[in-house]
Amino acid sequence: MKKCAIIGAGITGLSAAYYLEQESPDFEIDIIEASGVPGGKIKTYRKDGYTIELGPESYLGRKKIMTELAADIGMKDELVVNNTGQSYIYAKNKLHPIPGGAILGIPTELRPFITTRLISPIGKVRAAMDYIIKPKPMNPDVSVGAFFRRRLGNETLENLIEPLMSGIYGADIDKLSLKSTFPDFKKTEEAYGSLIKGMRSSRKETKSAPKQGQFRQFKNGLQSFIERLAEVLVNRGVTIKYNHKVEAINKTAQGYEVTMNGETHFYDSVIVTVPHTVFKDWFKDGPLDYFQTMKTTSVATVVMAFDESQVNNKANGTGFVIARNSDTVITACTWTDKKWSHAAPKGKTLLRAYVGRPGDTVVQDHDDAAIVKLARQDLDKMMEITGEPEFSIVTRLYNSMPQYEVGHIDKIHTIQHYVSTHYPNLVITGASFEAVGLPDCISQAQKAALKIAHR
Ligand code: FAD
Repeated sequence: MKKCAIIGAGITGLSAAYYLEQESPDFEIDIIEASGVPGGKIKTYRKDGYTIELGPESYLGRKKIMTELAADIGMKDELVVNNTGQSYIYAKNKLHPIPGGAILGIPTELRPFITTRLISPIGKVRAAMDYIIKPKPMNPDVSVGAFFRRRLGNETLENLIEPLMSGIYGADIDKLSLKSTFPDFKKTEEAYGSLIKGMRSSRKETKSAPKQGQFRQFKNGLQSFIERLAEVLVNRGVTIKYNHKVEAINKTAQGYEVTMNGETHFYDSVIVTVPHTVFKDWFKDGPLDYFQTMKTTSVATVVMAFDESQVNNKANGTGFVIARNSDTVITACTWTDKKWSHAAPKGKTLLRAYVGRPGDTVVQDHDDAAIVKLARQDLDKMMEITGEPEFSIVTRLYNSMPQYEVGHIDKIHTIQHYVSTHYPNLVITGASFEAVGLPDCISQAQKAALKIAHR
């Protein structure tokens, strides 16, 4: 039997094991995990009727692979969909409803865009110039900021698009690679000569579909998905070695020597799924040196639970993101009890805010109490809150958001080619590569597993 080591038991590592075992049951699979639990960044707090995500919050339902995997492991009936509601942008010291029809900030309906106070009249005229500005070749890549500034102007970018897009990547929009994150916008520009025209046309096609939440979760939280996946793997003969920290991976004539907790074990194949901040110490040759300088952002989630009588929230909706030009420490907040019916007991208000932007050191510089205080000072600007929370939880995720700067995806393709020619039977994958979303991690894991199975 061939032996495969999968390094890391986050969602990427666990799903890689799932697809490898399914595709080629004669592999002996060891998942090697430094911590004592599976899931990596995924952590759910489940207590006293609360189901609160401390890391990622949900996944995009249109990326079907995660729903399919959930069904495969018997969790179809545990899936839940978010409640839809108005989302807001905090800009110019005020919460503004996101104009109706805006797709990731790109306006597709005239009236809501004309009436929004997020953008000045001059800013709106500038955005309308999108209809006449000619497409420009993207040679070879451009930042998301530069692309949208050119098409729609600085104001629409800064007050509408940036808060929605950069939050997903915890990134500086003027460094974030368009080709690595939102390449479809470039295709739309080229096909229609105008982003607004193109987005309006694709919106017409989906408008007739019934309005349903676009995010998915599990009634017992994302961690329940991880626990079930780990259980299924163990039942199928996969070994998960918890509290085993990989220190080195060395290529030999026959395969790979993986050193963990001071001991070296031989494997025929290896799938590496740890973040690049970890594997950059194991692979430095050729184009892999890119990971020595690839940046990350540290973020923290700040959860506060209140009795609903303590919070007077005039904005009726599911949450808000914050324009970068605002003077706040938090970058976004979800009114979690409104967005997810399963998250809090009746009568409670659950706020979940994010802290941490590229270049700031709030997460590193402050203790939990100080972070809660800073978040609370910001939240007091957006709603009336009296008294202290029943409880608060700060979860720090250091260096957790890999930064896909301009040119990223081309470098990744070069690296993937290099690894496949210089490291037979080894794949490096995960969120530092092609995409960060949970379903994207599963897709990348599936690709890695199929590569190993069919070599
Ligand atoms: P990880 O989860 O980082 O797992 C890597 C594993 O490797 C860990 O278990 C770690 O302990 C282990 N490990 C590390 N070093 C070693 C070693 N030396 N030896 C052995 N094991 C090791 N995506 C969404 O789709 N929706 C969201 O709502 C969302 N929100 C997010 C919010 C935050 C705050 C962050 C940071 C990310 C969010 N993401 C979201 C992105 C998504 O959570 C991540 O991209 C994804 O969880 C990464 O999974 P992974 O398995 O690749 O890596």
